[in-house]
Amino acid sequence: MDPLSATLSEPISTPALAERLAAIVGADNVCIDEAKRKLHSEDIWSNSDDVVVLVVAPANTGELAEVVKVLGDVGCSIAPRGSGMSYTSAYVPANSHTVSIDTLRMNRILAVSRADMTVTVQAGVSWVQLNEALAKEGLRTPFWGPMSGLVSTIGGGLSQLNAMFGASQYGTSSESVVALTVVTGTGEVIRTGARGEAANHPFYRHFGPDLAGIFCGDCGTLGIKAEVTFRLITAPAHEDYASFSFPSGEKLLEAMGEMSRAGIASEMCAFDPGLTEVRMKRMSLMADMKTLGAVIGKEKSLGKGLLSAARVALGGRSFIPEGDYPLHVITEGRSKEAVAFDMTEARRIARDFDGTEIENSIAKIIRANPFPPLNSMVGPTGEAWVPVHGVCPLSTAPQIFTEIQKFYAENAALFAEHEIHTGFLFTGMATNALII
Ligand SMILES: Cc1cc2nc3c(=O)[nH]c(=O)nc-3n(C[C@H](O)[C@H](O)[C@H](O)COP(=O)(O)OP(=O)(O)OC[C@H]3O[C@@H](n4cnc5c(N)ncnc54)[C@H](O)[C@@H]3O)c2cc1C
Repeated sequence: MDPLSATLSEPISTPALAERLAAIVGADNVCIDEAKRKLHSEDIWSNSDDVVVLVVAPANTGELAEVVKVLGDVGCSIAPRGSGMSYTSAYVPANSHTVSIDTLRMNRILAVSRADMTVTVQAGVSWVQLNEALAKEGLRTPFWGPMSGLVSTIGGGLSQLNAMFGASQYGTSSESVVALTVVTGTGEVIRTGARGEAANHPFYRHFGPDLAGIFCGDCGTLGIKAEVTFRLITAPAHEDYASFSFPSGEKLLEAMGEMSRAGIASEMCAFDPGLTEVRMKRMSLMADMKTLGAVIGKEKSLGKGLLSAARVALGGRSFIPEGDYPLHVITEGRSKEAVAFDMTEARRIARDFDGTEIENSIAKIIRANPFPPLNSMVGPTGEAWVPVHGVCPLSTAPQIFTEIQKFYAENAALFAEHEIHTGFLFTGMATNALII
């Protein structure tokens, strides 16, 4: 039996609903193909017994609002999806009458304004697309993407509070937002922020209470982001990289806390010995010509570039002492001197917490190839990885880490029984939090 006819308060057959939606978005953009519907019913980690009945792809805010109204009228559940790079069951259907809204046709950069230092994009734009468009103008958003940014979307990133590039200095993706255009569950279009004449010129986040904040980190439950305006900065002209090795996770987190307080790093990224082993296996696979080419391209002269690439290639797996916790730090800024000053501070802090400086190849690769191919959901031996994130205060992060390890030790038998292995990744979040 048609799942819609069986379950909805206003029964409608799937073909009839598809026809109504096609009248809004065009028949080519309403998909009944089973493979695509199944793809939209699972994410990186989980799947569901239910399969979405349709996948509909609007091209703009107007079409999106019309689609949501129709789905509301007939009583369907709505699951917005960007690139499907999440692992939290966030858009996976919870019933048999869910329609997936595919935002990938909403992929236009609507306006880049150097005069106002803002950029407005449709929510289905990917982070790599945004960065490429802004780089041509010498501009950047403060937070500039997750490591999945090769495909993952701005809408998905804001719904899940992305962390990574720029986050150690500027916080999550949401903290760079100026304004949102959101379609609510009833198909109403809400525009947040101060927008000047004709409400068409978003330039400042606050116009009374912070409505944009409500929709950030909502996993799409409070509305569908249609358009997003970010603030811009001039792209930093200089950057530097350093890596350090720490004898324990606690020392590492104390050092990261102090570096956060000093506000010196644009990115900090650290691993425990378990994850280091996995990363190094992957790195030896990754040190291919493309990665080395990107490392060369980052340096101002070919000679320096070749030297850097040679170091990356020769560094192999050997430069991180076994059992240590490596930290990769990137600093950036307007002048070479300011960047050098920040890096001197990073070195001093690392020393204060028993850190030893090591080869900076990984820090360099992170920046040279920020949006690598998306293969790290599967480990080098084919194992499945799923991240679980905790945002910690600077002062208690070391203790939280100790407690997690204690919990793992207490449950070691259970982990062994289920062949569960663990690894830690640590990053910074502005001057006031760390992510474990
Ligand atoms: C290899 C890999 C690396 C990763 N690296 C990082 C990283 O460095 N930092 C990080 O933070 N995360 C990272 N992630 C996690 C994931 O990529 C992010 O959560 C990403 O933002 C998901 O974007 P997406 O477009 O794929 O969204 P989806 O997975 O499609 O959706 C995510 C959530 O957002 C909702 N949603 C999507 N679009 C909209 C919209 N327009 N309006 C409202 N709700 C919407 C969905 O309903 C769902 O709840 C990584 C994942 C992988 C697989």
